[in-house]
Amino acid sequence: MIEIQNLVKKIGDKLILRNVSLTIEDGETVAILGPNGAGKSTLLKIISTLIKPTSGTVMIDHKLLSKEVNQIRMRLGYLPHESLLYEHFSPLENLKFYGNLYQVKDPEKRARELTAKVGLSYFLNEPVKGFSRGMVQRIAIARAIVHDPCLLLLDEPHTGLDQKAIAILNEVIIENKQKKATTLMVTHDFKQAAEICDRAIVVRNGKIVDDFKITDHKESDLLGRYHQIIGGEA
Ligand code: ADP
Ligand code: MG
Repeated sequence: MIEIQNLVKKIGDKLILRNVSLTIEDGETVAILGPNGAGKSTLLKIISTLIKPTSGTVMIDHKLLSKEVNQIRMRLGYLPHESLLYEHFSPLENLKFYGNLYQVKDPEKRARELTAKVGLSYFLNEPVKGFSRGMVQRIAIARAIVHDPCLLLLDEPHTGLDQKAIAILNEVIIENKQKKATTLMVTHDFKQAAEICDRAIVVRNGKIVDDFKITDHKESDLLGRYHQIIGGEA
């Protein structure tokens, strides 16, 4: 469970998040929508412990983020725009490295398993630097879940993905839901959001301006509601 209270992020004179409060239950798959510059990535970075808020609190499973950073880090997986992979390393080496970092029991076995899961076993020992964007993103997804996190934070994960990679990502998110793990996903992909998420939050100008359940899983309905709130903004 995530409980966010009165979160404010100020950089210089600029207010990036303005009093964001939000509760997310275990097992929810939440789409975070909103125009460019709304503060979506900033919100995700704060929850992922990458940056600190100016004020306000984040609790994860009743633990205060500011107090138990290390413990919480071990339980969350974060997929930012950058892959966080070492490009001279192969998938096996990258995933073993992160597996060790997160104290995974048998990192080599896990690395092989995940490489197979994302359909890249054939490239297990090839350096990542020769990979296409879609292939890099598949390994990046594997990297984010190497320690089987209870909370998965995804920042625009569908951008630049091929159909196969989208299917793999969706499978990971759906499996997460079945395990009662939580997924927060910033996205501009309304089709994917409507298909796999069960709740949407709309952020605009540093504030949550809409928050609703997705019940009928239709892209047109999600887009319709979004445009009612946001209008034609990008
Ligand atoms: P989104 O992900 O919704 O597009 P971001 O959270 O990346 O938005 O950014 C929100 C606002 O904060 C933007 O106006 C952006 O320019 C600003 N911003 C983000 N990070 C910084 C930073 N390190 N320094 C100054 N401004 C920033
Ligand atoms: Mg962003």
